[in-house]
Amino acid sequence: MSGQTSPARVLILGGTTEGRELASACAPIPDLEVVSSLAGRTTSPILPAGKVRIGGFGGVDGLTAYLRHERIAAVVDATHPFAATMTAHATAASAQANVPLLILRRPGWTEQPGDHWHRVPDLATAAKLLPDLGERVFLTTGRQSIAAFAEVDACWFLSRSVEPPTGPLPSRLQVLLDRGPFTRTGERALLTEHRIDVLVTKDSGGSTAKLDAARELGLPVVLVDRPPLPPHANVAPTVEAALEWLRPGSAAACTPG
Ligand code: NAP
Repeated sequence: MSGQTSPARVLILGGTTEGRELASACAPIPDLEVVSSLAGRTTSPILPAGKVRIGGFGGVDGLTAYLRHERIAAVVDATHPFAATMTAHATAASAQANVPLLILRRPGWTEQPGDHWHRVPDLATAAKLLPDLGERVFLTTGRQSIAAFAEVDACWFLSRSVEPPTGPLPSRLQVLLDRGPFTRTGERALLTEHRIDVLVTKDSGGSTAKLDAARELGLPVVLVDRPPLPPHANVAPTVEAALEWLRPGSAAACTPG
């Protein structure tokens, strides 16, 4: 960034805690000007510091045009590990616009002694497995994923999401609208109160509160594996590493052509 007269514009593709943390960490750096992008899925999102734009770009072509028009110098894809379409679009568009891309992706979870995990490749496999593991299920896979369990009549479901679920839903479903962070003791109380037999989660990484609570209660967990990253992806596991990549003088610190 040395010798540059105006701040380098960085696009953070957000919708995650890490996206917000990175925007806050960049705010005091005078050589960086951050724009955070949110998909617009939630009606009252927690907004990141600095400039924010909301809504899709219109596919790869729309994002490529945006990067060129806004003279974006670097992109950090800080979307959720399961937002695979956005990550694929970011990869294609940043290559087309010749803008460096970093994928900020927190590590997935690791099984601990005492855990009873069943790793599955997708939601459909999770749904098939559930009746063998218990009747009362706590679903924490997000509201867009609940339809995958609509046909599982053998189970009763408690689902937790920020917004109400839509689409086909299980016949026996209780919806809990809530937003984290959650604590281990709170999660344990919830699992006990609803007499949960099995927890279902995506391997999102981050807070282990619900996994710790499930371990303490000896409950099985169905863990949906992450979609693969694009080949040759440039990945940072932490906000600190992403910030380092963005710092003036780093490989990413270049002006767009
Ligand atoms: P997705 O399937 O990967 O993306 C679908 C489309 O939504 C994209 O093609 C893009 O539309 C738009 N989009 C997604 N993220 C965007 C962003 N940050 N800014 C602008 N447009 C965005 O995404 P998703 O799984 O529905 O997730 C949507 C958002 O929720 C993401 O930002 C993600 O970080 C957050 N989130 C997702 C999950 C999850 O489990 N999937 C969990 C927590 C939070 P265009 O093609 O029109 O550009």
